[in-house]
Amino acid sequence: MTSPFVYQRAASIEDALARLAEPRTLPMGGGTDLLVSIDEGLYTPDAVVDLREIPASDSVDLREDGSLRIGASARIEQLAGHALIREQYGVLAQACAVVATPALREMGTLGGNLCQRPRCWYFRRGIDCYKNGGSSCPARDGENQYLAILDGGPCFIVHPSDPAVALAALNAEVEIRSTKGERVVAIEDFYLLPRERVDHETVLQPGEVVTAILLPAVAAGGRQRYQKLMQREAWDFALVSIAGCRRPDGDVRIVLGGVAPRPWRVNSSIEEDVSSGGLDEDTVTTLAERAMYDAEPLSKNGYKVELAQSLLRDAIRFLA
Ligand SMILES: Cc1cc2nc3c(=O)[nH]c(=O)nc-3n(C[C@H](O)[C@H](O)[C@H](O)COP(=O)(O)OP(=O)(O)OC[C@H]3O[C@@H](n4cnc5c(N)ncnc54)[C@H](O)[C@@H]3O)c2cc1C
Repeated sequence: MTSPFVYQRAASIEDALARLAEPRTLPMGGGTDLLVSIDEGLYTPDAVVDLREIPASDSVDLREDGSLRIGASARIEQLAGHALIREQYGVLAQACAVVATPALREMGTLGGNLCQRPRCWYFRRGIDCYKNGGSSCPARDGENQYLAILDGGPCFIVHPSDPAVALAALNAEVEIRSTKGERVVAIEDFYLLPRERVDHETVLQPGEVVTAILLPAVAAGGRQRYQKLMQREAWDFALVSIAGCRRPDGDVRIVLGGVAPRPWRVNSSIEEDVSSGGLDEDTVTTLAERAMYDAEPLSKNGYKVELAQSLLRDAIRFLA
């Protein structure tokens, strides 16, 4: 049975940070993952602090330097339909549009989506594993069909967020606050590999919350696209996904989702080859194969290599 906990609604960011400085207190966005996680026994908090009523915490603001600041309480559906994001940061709007169901997109916030916990069955069911405090990974020789083919070990989770993959291709930054102050980290540094930290997927420390995502002005416009392959053609997590951006200055970034414990950026030498353009079909195929050169599939997820190469070929043609 779920242990009782107190629900608190923060009136301001200072109020939220003060409450979150208390032990066993967790931040809450839409609650679509947090409340399920509590029910599943992943957490036994004393209190959860709802961040959604903090004034302007969901606002999307164009700043003087041309960058875009998206408040962490912005809802996924709001971002999928936002006119400026659709026009200038289309890859993010497209990624948000394919998250879960319309109801979950209406409830889920960007901050919560980026910090949602992985879906590995063993972890979620409380089975002894690295994430649950154990000393082995039952998925390595077990049910690993949805897990990582790159950068895995000792735990092989994949990060489930679609928007995170798009944000990595946009070179976004994450604004983080606690009672100790504010820090801003590149989204590439926000996510950690299991070998760096196994109890959580991000650099967040107790008491810290994501307050906003910052999109650089140079990443606006150009060619942008998000594609996602799912087992079912409706409301499912990505088997493999891809975000590709070619900025107006020609810079190319390609990031895969569903293949690694964090959004996985392809080697920069491949991005440079795509940026130079004029690629024939053989070169496109070779680049897609090269991108997957380091893949080390587990017993049941070798199919992800082929899916990734297929998405890579499409993305390279589109961007080149
Ligand atoms: C059936 C189903 C299908 C789904 N499919 C997809 C999918 O295809 N793609 C996808 O991307 N997602 C998918 N999701 C995940 C869904 O989008 C997330 O549950 C949702 O985005 C989380 O947002 P939330 O605001 O409800 O987070 P919450 O549930 O409130 O929080 C999630 C986690 O983040 C922490 N948190 C919340 N806000 C903050 C903050 N500001 N700073 C720091 N930590 C915070 C919480 O403590 C908790 O650990 C799916 C979920 C379900 C249930």
